[in-house]
Amino acid sequence: MDTQTAHRANLRIDAGALRHNVGVLVERARRSGARTMAIVKSDGYGHGALTAARAALRAGADALGVASPAEAIQLRRGGIDAPVLCWLYAPGEDFGPAIRAGVDLSASSPAELRGITEAATARGETARVHLKIDTGLHRNGCPPEEWPGMVTEAAKARADGHVEIVAMWSHLACADEPGHASIDMQAERFRRAHEQALSAGLDPLRHLANSAATLTRPDLHFDMVRPGIACYGLDPVPQAGEHDLRPAMTFRSSVVLTKRIAAGESVSYGHSWTAERPANLALVPVGYADGVPRALSGRMSVWLRGRRRPVVGRVCMDQLVVCCDDDPVAEGDEVVLFGEGDEGGPTAAEWAEELGTIHYEIVTGLYRPRVGRTVVDPAPEDPEDVS
Ligand SMILES: *Cc1c(COP(=O)(O)O)cnc(C)c1O
Repeated sequence: MDTQTAHRANLRIDAGALRHNVGVLVERARRSGARTMAIVKSDGYGHGALTAARAALRAGADALGVASPAEAIQLRRGGIDAPVLCWLYAPGEDFGPAIRAGVDLSASSPAELRGITEAATARGETARVHLKIDTGLHRNGCPPEEWPGMVTEAAKARADGHVEIVAMWSHLACADEPGHASIDMQAERFRRAHEQALSAGLDPLRHLANSAATLTRPDLHFDMVRPGIACYGLDPVPQAGEHDLRPAMTFRSSVVLTKRIAAGESVSYGHSWTAERPANLALVPVGYADGVPRALSGRMSVWLRGRRRPVVGRVCMDQLVVCCDDDPVAEGDEVVLFGEGDEGGPTAAEWAEELGTIHYEIVTGLYRPRVGRTVVDPAPEDPEDVS
């Protein structure tokens, strides 16, 4: 454990774990002849977009995916020259900067395709486009009824020379529930849409699988998989067995003050916890403003001096209190709020379970102005993290 530096609130990102996880996914994809697009949207799910992107490419990912053009351009500015796909736009988005940066653009409607084609034509460039079909998630993507028109238009735009149709793609609604009937239904619609694309004279690559489908449905890997959460070591389908993933984020703080409390004394706002016996308390300078949900008051524990210890009383804006019973505890001791969990410590998945949410929401919400982020074990060739 790294106890050299005391932290008020810090996210330690293990780049070695990121490379390990992406390596596991790349290997699974390779076995079915597919490539890997690692998803690094939303600042690499809170781990740092550039940190995640570099680790993924070192581990054999062929491409990267983000939601917005701005995120894609940020990767380019950070020196990433691998293919990068983005798919979510502001109304009236100017596609010019993304096209100039060589970013792949998704088109979810003939109107979006036209917008991209016009921007490419105006600049005398060729846009790389992935056509998205809505096979049942009903978020973005082109409805199946409009798909034949969309692929016809795409074939025409390609002939005019300003777009290259790289791929067609879709996204699954229930892949994290293996066996859910919608998975095969969506796959069937996806195959039909592919046939229509072929009939229109296109020959796009296909990609459909998120992390859950990458891990559980090799038959749906097609030409490329698009794992996100699993790259970060968080398993979207723990019920489907052991997947050899290592959580890459550890949320740490340190003890800043200790005191002995008498039996019958209560702790923190509202006095919601009262000591039954005299106890050693440790004050930890991290609170809900740093991403420790107040809803975890009385329902969380931390890893401190080699074991789990309960957080007692309310989680405040900037502080929380840990009960150490009669064990010694000292200023500067490292406190792990969650991490790999390999020694039995708390994990992001456990926070999510306790809060009735998913670990995706836990890790994406933590990097804030008062929380530092430290990358450990970067590849030696990689530049200092600047994300
Ligand atoms: C976020 C996202 C992914 C990755 O999903 P995970 O469940 O994190 O693997 C893949 N494709 C699209 C379109 C996404 O929005």
